[in-house]
Amino acid sequence: STRTAAPPARLEARVDLDALRSNVRRLREIAGPAQVMAVVKADAYGHGMVPCARAAVQAGAAWLGTALPEEALALRAAGLEVPILTWLHAPGDDFAALVRAGVDVSISGQWSLDAVLAAVGGTRRPARIQLKADTGLGRNGIQPREWPAVVDEAVKAERAGLVEVTGLWSHFACADEPGHPSIRRQLTSFHEALEYAEAAGLRGRLRHMANSPATLTLPESHFDLVRPGVAVYGLSPAPELGVPADFGLRPVMTLRGRLALVKQVPEAHGVSYGHTYHTTGETRLGLVPAGYADGIPRAASDRGPVWIGGRRYVIAGRVAMDQFVVDLGPAGPGEQSPAAGDEVVLFGPGEDGGPTAQDWAQAIGTIGYEVVTRIGGRVPRVYV
Ligand code: PLP
Repeated sequence: STRTAAPPARLEARVDLDALRSNVRRLREIAGPAQVMAVVKADAYGHGMVPCARAAVQAGAAWLGTALPEEALALRAAGLEVPILTWLHAPGDDFAALVRAGVDVSISGQWSLDAVLAAVGGTRRPARIQLKADTGLGRNGIQPREWPAVVDEAVKAERAGLVEVTGLWSHFACADEPGHPSIRRQLTSFHEALEYAEAAGLRGRLRHMANSPATLTLPESHFDLVRPGVAVYGLSPAPELGVPADFGLRPVMTLRGRLALVKQVPEAHGVSYGHTYHTTGETRLGLVPAGYADGIPRAASDRGPVWIGGRRYVIAGRVAMDQFVVDLGPAGPGEQSPAAGDEVVLFGPGEDGGPTAQDWAQAIGTIGYEVVTRIGGRVPRVYV
């Protein structure tokens, strides 16, 4: 389904599904014999949930993972039939819809088990549930001291035909910092939780714990299934761990557009709101039609890198809602200088020296995850 390079739109996020499939295959290689759950929450980290989920399944992802129940239901509505786990629930969620859709519901405490059991009555099928242990992250998940009671209750409900406990799982806090003491503590706590659950009758259930950094760096965390998110989209979980290519991963998203305008201005010209930037000589300014409404962080003002005509530039002045400016410099004699309509790459695979999502993250003090996930709904996704 590769489309040849049509001229880019005003601004578009090109999503390379071949790269995504190649990443999933690579993650299967790394994790094997453990299976892969592709995490596709948050609109597949901004890449578009349904197309990415389909591509991940084509490449052999056995499971899909979402935070919100609506995300899981949207995958079912799109015809995706693989097992799906959803883990972020709140009182009032429509658990019956999840049970009817055959979505695995994560149990984070007695309240969510009660809510699922209450929903099962009207559905005439057992709920698929996975018990989540809080082994130290301190977000959702069952605390060690509540674990035995919830496990016992789940075993009872399973024997009564109300639920099927399909998995036992947990999530790391610091897997992106290999050697962090919490990693070992969490693994020990997870083993203890598994031991109790298995002795209580929950043997042979899927055990899983590894996010991308654990998948890439900690084989003993792989258990039966790994849950990579950011690595599916070809980003390294942390610059300290290496660049995507070190793991055989290929960045999936390229954010690019076209210069809307190029114009000559004199020296000492203020640029954009607040005049945080002034030209230092007669120069040419290029207008990039991308702003914080598109998910370009305002924190990238005077910092974010862009790539035009094989050269790197830095954003001049503030990022506005719909646009920002780049100082292209004076046109040298005989030099090919960027013109309106020329391609601007904000970030992409970076193979040619162009900026990556990680470069943006470093420029503004965040993580690559946030750079891609925040690309806004008004930016069309173009699947290639
Ligand atoms: N598992 C759970 C429970 C998550 O919340 C996430 C995302 O934060 C992931 C797995 C995937 O994490 P990563 O993108 O670091 O692979």
